[in-house]
Amino acid sequence: MIWRITGGFLNNIMCSMRKEGNDEVKIGYNEATAMKRSDLKTDLALTEKYGYDYIEIRLDMLENYLTSNSINDLKFFFSNSRLKPYALNAIEEINFCDRAGFLKVEEKTKWACSMAEKINNPFLIVVPSFRKNAVQNSSKSDIEADSAAVLNRLADISEEYNVKIAFEPVGFKACAVRDIETAWDIVQKVDRDSVGLVIDAFNLFLYNGLKDIDIIREIDPAKIFVFHIDDCEGGVPFENLQLEHRVWPGDGIIPLVPLLSILKEKGFGRIASIELFRPEYWKLPPDVAIRTALEKTKKILKTI
Ligand code: ZN
Repeated sequence: MIWRITGGFLNNIMCSMRKEGNDEVKIGYNEATAMKRSDLKTDLALTEKYGYDYIEIRLDMLENYLTSNSINDLKFFFSNSRLKPYALNAIEEINFCDRAGFLKVEEKTKWACSMAEKINNPFLIVVPSFRKNAVQNSSKSDIEADSAAVLNRLADISEEYNVKIAFEPVGFKACAVRDIETAWDIVQKVDRDSVGLVIDAFNLFLYNGLKDIDIIREIDPAKIFVFHIDDCEGGVPFENLQLEHRVWPGDGIIPLVPLLSILKEKGFGRIASIELFRPEYWKLPPDVAIRTALEKTKKILKTI
C-alpha cells in the first residue's frame, strides 16, 4: 500500500526518517500492547525481530529499564538497529492542577524530554485529565483555555530538548478533552510548531462512534503527529466500553477503513502504531502478542 506524501509533509521533521523513494506507511509498536508480561528489553528485541519500524516506549517501562540499564545502553541499541523510537507515553493528569500537582507534571515532562533527546525520540504524548471535579464543573471554554495554557508551558520545556508534544483526546465521559474537534481547537489556539495531535481510533470511537470522522479532513496533516491504530470489541453497550475492549485492528467494529482512507487522502503517510490494553492479550507470550499485532496491522493497512 502506498500513501502519497503531500508537499507540506516534505518539509516536516519526520521526512528525514523516511527512506528515500519509499513512502509506504511505517508500523510502530506501543508497549501497552504486551505490557503486563513484557519489559522494554524484551519489546526492543521482539519488535526488531519482527521488523517493526518504530517503538513507542512507555515511561513506566523506561523507568523500570533504567533500574538495571542506562539511557546510553538504550541509545546504543537504537544506533545499531533499524528500529527507532517514536513517541514516549505519556504525561497525564495535566488539567486544573494545583501548584504541587503541576510541578510534578513539569518535572516528569523535563525528565521524559531529557530521555527523549538522548535517544532521538521525536514526540511526547500528553493526555487530558480524568475524573477531576474541576473537569466536570468546568465549561468547554475553561477546559480549552486550561489545556492550551498547559500545552504552552509543556512546549516551553519540550522545545529545549527538541521534542514535540502530541496531545491525545480520549472519548471517555470522564476525560477533559473527549473529541478531535475540541483537541484541534486547542492545538490551533496554542499555534506552535512543537504542539500537535494524536489520533487514536479507539479513543475517537468512544466519543460518538466516529460520527465526527469528517472533522479529520479539516486538520492540517502536518499537525497529526501520532496515529494509534486499534479496534473495539463488538456487542458491548457503548457506555460500558473500557480500554480492555480494544482488540486487534480489523477484529472489531470501528470503521477503520474510512478512517484510514481519510488519513490517506490527507497525505498522512507516516506511521501507524498499534496500541492495545487488552488483558486477554497480556496473557499471551510477548513474542506471540507482538507478532500478531504486526500481522493484524499490516493486514488492515493493505485494505486501503
Ligand atoms: Zn492512544
